[in-house]
Amino acid sequence: MKNAISLLGSTGSIGRQTLETAELLGLRVRSLGANKNIKLLEAQMRRFKPDIVAVFDNDSARDFKTRVRDTDVRVVAGIDGLVEAACADGVSTVVTAVVGTIGLIPTLAAIEQGRTIALANKETLVCAGSLVMKTAKERGTAIIPVDSEHSALFQCLKAEKPEHVKRLILTASGGPFRGWGRDRLTKVTPEMALRHPNWSMGRKITIDSATMMNKGLELIEAMHLFDVPPEKIGIVVHPESVVHSMVEFNDNSVIAQLAQPDMCLPIQYALTYPERRASLVDSLDLTKLISGLTFEEPDFDAFPCLRLAIETAQTGGIAPAVMNGANEAAVELFLAGKIGFYGIYESVSAALDKITNIENPSLEDLMSADIEAKRFVIESRGAP
Ligand code: MG
Repeated sequence: MKNAISLLGSTGSIGRQTLETAELLGLRVRSLGANKNIKLLEAQMRRFKPDIVAVFDNDSARDFKTRVRDTDVRVVAGIDGLVEAACADGVSTVVTAVVGTIGLIPTLAAIEQGRTIALANKETLVCAGSLVMKTAKERGTAIIPVDSEHSALFQCLKAEKPEHVKRLILTASGGPFRGWGRDRLTKVTPEMALRHPNWSMGRKITIDSATMMNKGLELIEAMHLFDVPPEKIGIVVHPESVVHSMVEFNDNSVIAQLAQPDMCLPIQYALTYPERRASLVDSLDLTKLISGLTFEEPDFDAFPCLRLAIETAQTGGIAPAVMNGANEAAVELFLAGKIGFYGIYESVSAALDKITNIENPSLEDLMSADIEAKRFVIESRGAP
């Protein structure tokens, strides 16, 4: 059980739920980091009284400083500010809940300092998973997943030997457009895609769920977290989101983790691990599940991002970083109404077609792959 945390991405969906959980558990919050939602950040700061607040956006950081000049909180800005917040004194666990590859450098810095990472920023592992896991191993630091599927896998694998694992089975809700064909999907608007049936989440991950890119990103996240090749990770659509993922073993025995679809639970588990505490999440009464538990194959034709992500996972090198960066930019363009639903797949696919892959890439290779991919997508698709 930890008693003090740093939280990067405090104003997002996971960030807000992390603060609720921290309050419930009586944890001290030593630092907060956010991008530009300074109104909410100020309210959080006044409630949780951290020593350091990092505001990524420079203009917002200046405004924030003015707003809180009656306090003695240290306000820092930019990527250096996020790094400082991630490495705050007296902290055992850093919750990384920022969206996108912006989380990579602060996460690596916290690992270097020997902090445990409660990881809710999957893009960090998609972009630079081998490097992050290698650094964590060298520093003897644990990375505890917050993503619900990976929290489930982490729990299922706990008492088992790696050589006994036959495959990991990631469950997917299927998003708001499960069962839709290409004709209908072509006409999907951002408003439609932002309505997720089971999970209340931020905008980027909600769009990723609608395209099913999210499950592809999660497959790559799982590869790195659990050191399992992509061929040994299956995906099954499970619309009720009650079975959060499963592991099949050599003897064909399957262990699953079940719970209500509520992110407070995996967040709390990451913060209390290896202990378990009573939570605010409702008990699961299987006899009251109206539609039962159902499972089906993913539709790779209607959701081509999923296949693309699996292929990219197999390719390795800088390809996952390119795919991830291109996807981040394409989701922004879709939300801005500049490209259609399948424009996301087309943009990511075009960015991947353009690259010359690099084996065993360095951190610099991965970061420039990310930047180049974003630039390519914006220049080729988002031009006014
Ligand atoms: Mg997930």
